[in-house]
Amino acid sequence: MNAEIIAVGSELLLGQIANTNGKYLSEELAGIGINVYRHTVVGDNETRLLEAFREAAERADVVVVTGGLGPTQDDLTKDMLARLTERPLVIHEPTMEKMKSYFDGKEKPMPQNNKKQALYTEGSDVFYNEAGFACGVAQVWERSLFLLLPGPPRELKHMFEYSMKPYLLNRLDEHAVVHSRVLRFFGIGESSLEEQLSDIIEKQTNPTIAPLASDGEVTVRLTAKAPDRQKAEEMLDNVEHDITRTAGSYLYGKDQETLPSRVVTELGRSNDTIAAAESITGGWFSKALVDISGASNVFEGAFTVYTEEAKTKVLEIEQSILDDFGAVSKECAEQMAEKVRVLYGTTIGISFTGSAGPGTLEGKEPGTVWIGISVNGTIESHLLQLSGSREHIRRMAVYYGCWYVLN
Ligand code: ATP
Ligand code: MG
Repeated sequence: MNAEIIAVGSELLLGQIANTNGKYLSEELAGIGINVYRHTVVGDNETRLLEAFREAAERADVVVVTGGLGPTQDDLTKDMLARLTERPLVIHEPTMEKMKSYFDGKEKPMPQNNKKQALYTEGSDVFYNEAGFACGVAQVWERSLFLLLPGPPRELKHMFEYSMKPYLLNRLDEHAVVHSRVLRFFGIGESSLEEQLSDIIEKQTNPTIAPLASDGEVTVRLTAKAPDRQKAEEMLDNVEHDITRTAGSYLYGKDQETLPSRVVTELGRSNDTIAAAESITGGWFSKALVDISGASNVFEGAFTVYTEEAKTKVLEIEQSILDDFGAVSKECAEQMAEKVRVLYGTTIGISFTGSAGPGTLEGKEPGTVWIGISVNGTIESHLLQLSGSREHIRRMAVYYGCWYVLN
């Protein structure tokens, strides 16, 4: 099987951005045994795009197209595929739903042109975009399979790794089973994890191993191709074993698991209960746990004590601690954790106090967060120096809180 890659976008032709998607796709396709014979870069121009599609289809089994799936006028890729294949464009409902709920959340009407991102050529296979909006498309035309992927590299990588690669592997060998497993890591960056796993990744072609950073964590997707499901699972078990031996201290879960879901499961298993004192997280930790069914087995309750006054009045944090060390301090975090644990009579108390930014608080840089944990009165605390938006800092504080409970 051979492939060609078409990168769409005038900014590529103008030299404003480098065609890193082309490089990524070439490497990935080679990795699964598909020969890439040609790369084409074409601007956002109807005639030339259509011509590029036609020419590639004369030669290639697979034509991989990246870019131009967005909502704006210069995003022409799907229109040109529709024109080439003479198929109508229809709406992918899950993508529409995703966009609608995004704009509902922002309390803004969805701009009409956004609808474009939910279109696909009738009869094609559609790929939901986990990392953005525009859905991907797999459409057979004459003897070629066209694969349309979004231009933003993060979206492209996510869609290719998670759905198009398994799709291609399946088509390469209809008798084979393609099976995936996701390993979830926390407290380590994508590049560090990739470095730690480099020996394993390099010598491994089946299952393939693909690390991806998303939403504060790093996931590693293992994809195995085997004659049957049982064999695929065995192959996944073996690689998972190797990965765990190397980077197991950062591994927290698999597949659909999340840090909060792991907390609920693990505390249930050890017969522990937890209560929280939340300042910077403002209830987010509680929400994260309560979102998980079965939370009532382990989560007793929480106090959101945002102001100094609330901390002293509700939790009886000593005024001297606030005066001497401030609310964003080890001393305050530790007392909050222990007080809330005693108030609720749980085995574990956890607290979150910090500066979410954008300004400094008590002279502490935004992103300074103290997390206190008391386990049956044995108290420890952790200092985080996070960066990013207010929302990101607060979310990461919740994730780290879960992580410390698990460790
Ligand atoms: P959007 O919804 O952002 O419009 P799109 O699928 O229409 O996405 P483009 O408009 O072609 O994609 O590109 C969006 C951005 O993605 C570009 O500005 C660029 O930053 C990046 N990008 C596009 N193509 C490539 C490429 N081949 N290599 C690297 N980056 C790319
Ligand atoms: Mg675009």
